[in-house]
Amino acid sequence: MTHRQTPWSVSQQSFCLGLLLLGGCGGAVATPASAVTGDAPAVHSSFVIDPDLHTLSATVCPRDLRLERLRMTTPEFIERVRRPRILRATGDVPLAFEEDALPMASMADGDCIGYDVDLGPPREGFWIAPGEAHVIAAPDVWLLAPEPRPEGTLLTASFTLPPGVRAAVPWPDDPRGHRVPETAFTLRGAAAFGKLEQATARVGGAELDLVSLGSGFGERAPLVSKWMQKSASALTELHDGLPVPRVMALLLPVSGSDVGFGMALRGGGPTVMIMVGSSVTPASLDTDWTAVHELFHLSAPRFHPRDAWLSEGLATYYTDILMARAGMLDERSAWDDLRDGFSRGSRRGTGRTLRQESIDMHETYAYQRVYWAGAALSLLADVELRKRGVEGGLDGPMRELARCCARSEEAWSAEKFAAFVDQKTGQSVVQSLFEHYLDRADFPDTAEILAALGVKGAGREMTLVADAPRASVRSAMMAPRAGGAKP
Ligand SMILES: [Zn+2]
Repeated sequence: MTHRQTPWSVSQQSFCLGLLLLGGCGGAVATPASAVTGDAPAVHSSFVIDPDLHTLSATVCPRDLRLERLRMTTPEFIERVRRPRILRATGDVPLAFEEDALPMASMADGDCIGYDVDLGPPREGFWIAPGEAHVIAAPDVWLLAPEPRPEGTLLTASFTLPPGVRAAVPWPDDPRGHRVPETAFTLRGAAAFGKLEQATARVGGAELDLVSLGSGFGERAPLVSKWMQKSASALTELHDGLPVPRVMALLLPVSGSDVGFGMALRGGGPTVMIMVGSSVTPASLDTDWTAVHELFHLSAPRFHPRDAWLSEGLATYYTDILMARAGMLDERSAWDDLRDGFSRGSRRGTGRTLRQESIDMHETYAYQRVYWAGAALSLLADVELRKRGVEGGLDGPMRELARCCARSEEAWSAEKFAAFVDQKTGQSVVQSLFEHYLDRADFPDTAEILAALGVKGAGREMTLVADAPRASVRSAMMAPRAGGAKP
């Protein structure tokens, strides 16, 4: 692990500051346009954060592009935008929102657009959350989408930050600061400003950017960092390295000694956001699954929200599998965890079909049913493929899927996934399995398969039966990946 000398968000920060001092980014005064943009149309956004972290001031300058509007991609944040205006050498021209966008009809060549964004309280979920010396502010709070964006438009951004303030965004570096990926405008992402501890590790060929908010984890920082690296490394028990070039891990210290909620986000670049107790112990981290689960999501394609049973099912299933392969759980504990999850999932439904339960889960809170039914179907598919002689069962297709599609913007459906696996394995397994269970209210039947695998009893009484009919399949599933790519 190396500590970065220059936080990735402040490189080239002075670029647009100079232009700001000259009265805006327009006028091409100090801009070697050809060097910056080549022949392509371009939009550069520069952001200035005040020392109190209350206001972000944006300057957006198009070049070789006629902007029609700047759109707020999440309209509820419009009320945080102040003083939208055209920046012109002869004086600013006020702008006003029409619905969710600022129209640019009066914009002339060389003009830029300015606006301020209130980053202060109140907190609004995970998307805008001021802390003591930092603020979590998702890009959709402060980044307006320039429209149109013809193919090939170069979108860049830079930050000008007060001393002691850093910016964490998942966007790739660029000579001007950052390149802003198209997904920053189309998918939800995360960002933070303020006092941040930043460090970078390389895991599985990818950069793992660890950003701890506030003062971080103090003397426990190496522990948390090691846990994140170990969790990321568990992914190489399935994939040939991490299938994304860089992951930003935003770690939020919270009170307590456990790992709390986590989420995976893709807007602007792969991101995991995890709440970690500031008094975590090695014991609580050693077997914690949160980071493996969230990182797994980023190694699979984005699935349609209605098919959460599949995206969460695969992640839930593979979390136990990968933790066992990586030695974070022993084989028996991993099987007991799966068995226990199936048992909980089978008790906690609302009587809806799995398809409907998945669609309604944020209202019914039937998360256990949805996640574990999906995990059960993953197990059934995996074992059936192995029984039919497909070496590695689901692993092969999951690996291929990561390679082709983990970074794609497209949302996959369960049907498309099932067809993909069946086509890659040459078997008719997954499509018929999903068709069989998706419109039923009963939990997938795992008892028979667990018995065949030799998973017997529960909790402390659980044993793994050595001479069960499928005992070799069972141990192969949890065994470290032989000859796999290691970090
Ligand atoms: Zn999940």
